[in-house]
Amino acid sequence: MFDRLLNLAAHGLLDAGIGTMLLYLLVMTQLTIFTVTLYLHRSQTHRSVDFHPVLAHAFRFWSWLTTSMVTREWVAVHRKHHAHADTEHDPHSPYIAGIHTLLWKGTELYTKASQDPRMLAIYGRGTPDDWIERHVYTRHSNWGPTLLAVISLALFGVGGMAIWAVQMMWIPFWAAGVVNGIGHWWGYRNFETPDKSANVMPLAIWVGGEELHNNHHAFPSSAKFSVRRFEFDLGWLVIQMLAAVGLARVRRVALVGQARMAHRTARLVPLAPRVKVMTAFFRKVTLPAVKEEIRRSKSSPLSVRLHRALADGGRWLSADERAHLNAWIDARPYLRTICHQRTQLAALMETRNADHAAAALTLWVKAAQASGIGSLQQFAVSLSEGMLMHRAPLPGSPD
Ligand SMILES: [Zn+2]
Ligand SMILES: [Zn+2]
Repeated sequence: MFDRLLNLAAHGLLDAGIGTMLLYLLVMTQLTIFTVTLYLHRSQTHRSVDFHPVLAHAFRFWSWLTTSMVTREWVAVHRKHHAHADTEHDPHSPYIAGIHTLLWKGTELYTKASQDPRMLAIYGRGTPDDWIERHVYTRHSNWGPTLLAVISLALFGVGGMAIWAVQMMWIPFWAAGVVNGIGHWWGYRNFETPDKSANVMPLAIWVGGEELHNNHHAFPSSAKFSVRRFEFDLGWLVIQMLAAVGLARVRRVALVGQARMAHRTARLVPLAPRVKVMTAFFRKVTLPAVKEEIRRSKSSPLSVRLHRALADGGRWLSADERAHLNAWIDARPYLRTICHQRTQLAALMETRNADHAAAALTLWVKAAQASGIGSLQQFAVSLSEGMLMHRAPLPGSPD
């Protein structure tokens, strides 16, 4: 009897081998990743997809069981992130809190932000507020992981506690750390959004599509995160499969190259004019000028970080980096003109008053045409003819 109990404690009910335990871990963590990206993020935060009520509740239950995260808190923190990305009001910007803090202590930033009742009231609207949400999922949010620990212990014995510990670290590391941290720090950009979001890798499988973070900031309300031919969003594939069997309804997808493949229930979301114009400016004016400078000097005279600053204004640079960049630009008058025009253009694209914006645009076009820089003059013509306002400049497209 005692031996049987000891054996049960050591190996659990399943008496599983290491392979089975690893498979269990992978399936459980992927289900949690899907809960975060499909339900908390795409559906609840951005309303880009609706799920069948039974499936939506299964996601809520899974979020409670495996993460203890409360839907309203997650949604509020993330909406605030979009509203203030990479400014001092962003709950988790690596440029404000530091990349190492994001990677290893991202959950602390999230927890701190989620405890602000005013922020929850402003950004948490429209999330579940029924009996079970108030009395179980929110009031006893820690019961979920506790129950999961008991299940894990029962199934796998002491090894189950190791699996449980890894599960508890999975979302804090991959979502709070890698997506919120690396997704604003390192990677390629398709769109010149006003923040520092980046696509960490084109094949977005491991974190369910969240790797395509720059695309997401460009089209926050799109259910589909991939926009280029070589990009793959696993979360979108799952949404399409769920939609095919009537468990999901796509509400919005990005209006880009593959828009004609959009789900028939979806509205097509255009790129915001500011992002559209600044992306085109980077592709058509800044990038060719920097390439020409590299060709002329036969080496890259600037670090990648400073090159990026030429594209986005570099408000994240340190004082030393800023001084270095300014000195470099000042020695190259044509680049100084381009940078000045970029700053002016970004400011006028933010102008809310239509009359002021139109007057500023006229002045901007005149200055660009008088610059004597061919690419800038061509861009000014496209801008004044309204061409850039009507077409999404997907990188690599011929416009
Ligand atoms: Zn972000
Ligand atoms: Zn988002």
